[in-house]
Amino acid sequence: MIGKCARWPGRKVAVFVDGCFWHGCHCKYLPRTNTEFWRDKIETNKRRDRRVSQALRRDGWTVIRVKECAVRKPSTLTRIAKAFRDAGVRGNAIRDTQGHDVPRVAGTAGGA
Ligand SMILES: [Zn+2]
Repeated sequence: MIGKCARWPGRKVAVFVDGCFWHGCHCKYLPRTNTEFWRDKIETNKRRDRRVSQALRRDGWTVIRVKECAVRKPSTLTRIAKAFRDAGVRGNAIRDTQGHDVPRVAGTAGGA
């Protein structure tokens, strides 16, 4: 699901999982060759991320962006679960391997 966005139409919650390299996460280093090229590319991605998030929020969506490296962090799962509760999504939670409630991502109809 990396790089994908899961949306729950009617609930207006969008969860983006951003690949660390492409979205400029501090956990990744830029390649040592063509550094400027990569920096530009990643900055462009980040600007687009912000534009997409802003447009959705203006439309009343709850937007959550999660970096690939943070997907399994308990704090991330808590954040996602809370957003879903706030948006009124019920009975749609699964438990991950550590026993945290996480929203069901697979198998949602109408996703991007
Ligand atoms: Zn990362």
